[in-house]
Amino acid sequence: MSDIQLIDTHCHLDFHEFDTDREAVLARCHQSSVRDIVIPAVAFSSFERTIKCCRASNELHLALGLHPVFIDQHQPHHLVELDSLLSTEPVVAVGEIGLDFYIKDLDQEKQIAFFTKQLIIAKRHGLPVIIHNRKAHDLCIELLAEHKPKGGIIHAFNGSLQQGFKYADLGFKLGFGGMLTFDRSNKLKRLAAGLPLDALVLETDAPDMTVSEHKGARNSPEYIPLILKALVDVREESAETIALATSENARQSLNLPTNTGKQQQTPANKALSQKNKL
Ligand SMILES: [Zn+2]
Repeated sequence: MSDIQLIDTHCHLDFHEFDTDREAVLARCHQSSVRDIVIPAVAFSSFERTIKCCRASNELHLALGLHPVFIDQHQPHHLVELDSLLSTEPVVAVGEIGLDFYIKDLDQEKQIAFFTKQLIIAKRHGLPVIIHNRKAHDLCIELLAEHKPKGGIIHAFNGSLQQGFKYADLGFKLGFGGMLTFDRSNKLKRLAAGLPLDALVLETDAPDMTVSEHKGARNSPEYIPLILKALVDVREESAETIALATSENARQSLNLPTNTGKQQQTPANKALSQKNKL
């Protein structure tokens, strides 16, 4: 079990909350067998920060996208910039993108337009997508079925079992995080138990959300083993089987290298010569 490498498929390690101890966090991740970490961007204004953060280690994987919660900030030219960066940076996915209909004052029309355009861009680059979705799963499924990007991850999935199966049928993985560690998360536990193992991946969404053991404190990618344990508690497979499967699902879905090292990825090779662009 100890030699199985775990993957955090969704972590905002570039956020300022980690500025004082990012390296120490990564060192503790290694001790907890958490190796690869996927870092999705949220807005054009912070793309440079996210890109720089990922350059620090071969185990940090970059995703670039315009997050629906920051829809007021997004401008049409940000899509043009995104499109061009996807050709020059070692990006594993377009994300995080999606729809947030939970927060009432976000412009839904504009969200749909930016989401759709980013799905089209992702498809053109042959990249998977990392999706944030609240209260709009049916529309999201519809748009994914229509635009058919190359799979990806539905981050912090909390829809219905039926919606989960639809995403899985479309080739998407479903991300489960710290909420699963709370006793009261009965709906989430039913989802985690009822969905096929080959559709599940682990994530923290750090520094946001958290695990019950560290309630009230900053979330961290080093807590991935606690999320694995919560998943093991609700499923019938062994911890080893679940650890192996979730890591393999993440690698397959985001085309991560089997042995850590970005040099194995074609886009990274392309980007190496342009490392000083931003
Ligand atoms: Zn996120």
